[in-house]
Formats: sequence, structure tokens, C-alpha cells
Amino acid sequence: MARDKLKTYRQKRDFRRTSEPAGERRSSRRSPVFVIQEHNATTHHFDFRLEIDGVLVSWSVPKGPSTDPREKRLAIRTEDHPLDYADFEGMIPEDEYGGGPVIVWDTGAFENGKTGDRPPSLAQQLDDHHLVVVLHGKKLSGGYALTFLREENGRDLWLLVKMDDADADARRNPVNTQRESVLSGRMIDEVEAEADDDSG
Ligand code: MN
Repeated sequence: MARDKLKTYRQKRDFRRTSEPAGERRSSRRSPVFVIQEHNATTHHFDFRLEIDGVLVSWSVPKGPSTDPREKRLAIRTEDHPLDYADFEGMIPEDEYGGGPVIVWDTGAFENGKTGDRPPSLAQQLDDHHLVVVLHGKKLSGGYALTFLREENGRDLWLLVKMDDADADARRNPVNTQRESVLSGRMIDEVEAEADDDSG
């Protein structure tokens, strides 16, 4: 099942050219993971990914996530990515769908944020176009809602909004104040500079 979901991901990539993973990792019974990758492609954005049924369901968030419940952040659905993408950092070759450096801006476990006797599964919530998740990251924690807005030019537009809970904080702005990778401590510009050094 996960292999079919990754067809678009694989079709877009030449794995002889890119160091991105082809996607062999299988899910286990541990908690699902989320990852937010900062990606300096043609346009700078953050890729928000949630592990659901063996793949990373993905959205591109131009402004990145907010910790302020009053801020609605546009999130454009992109193709499902393999689970091993969750710890990918490095350079995507130029002319491969935008190219550019990637860092893991935040990652951790997450939970289904819908409660009650029989809360809908995350896959069901995705089908219903409304997800609530509780993140346990290093920079972000607490509830976030993803709500489908509309389709535009063949793209599914969603909104990513912080839930108004104990982790909400309008004064924080981690996208600007906590720029470093949670895996390597590097800034995205350093990843790009190191790649330039390597190529000569
Ligand atoms: Mn991206």
C-alpha cells in the first residue's frame, strides 16, 4: 500500500542524482512521527509531514507554522513522502522540483488530537479534510488543526492553525527565532555552503 502511495514521489526523482531516500523503511508500532523541514527551493517554505499509514503525508507551508492560534497559515498539499525522509537533510540537486538545501527544522512524535469514545483515525480525518494532531516536537508542541480550504489550479489548499491550548503562545515566533536544525544544529545556509565546498 505504501509503495503505491509513493509512486508520484519516485516518478519525480532520479535516485542516481539525489541523496534523498528512495523509501524502504517500514512503519512499526511506535508512535507516528511528524517532521517539519525548512526547504530553500525556488521559493522558501517549510514542508510539514505527518506519518499516516506508512507514508509521510505532506504539505508545503510558505510561511511556516505559527504558535499563535489567530494565525492561519496556508498549507499546500504535496505528494506523500517515504518514512525515511523524516531525517533527510542536505542538498536536492538543481532542476529537481526546485532543488535547494533542506534541514530538519523540527521533529518528534505526534498523536491523534481528536478525542471521544471512538475518535476517527488519522486516515479518516485526512479523507474528511480536517485533521487535529498533538505534536511533541522540540520547538512545537500541542494541538494543530489542518483544514481543507479549496482546490486551486489543481492544488489542494489547506490551512494550518495552532489550537488554543496551553502550548499556544502568540509571543513566540520560532520560525524566525529558532532557525537551527534539531538534528545537526546547522542553519539552512550552512547546508548550502557545505555543499558548495564539496563540489569544489
Ligand atoms: Mn519542499
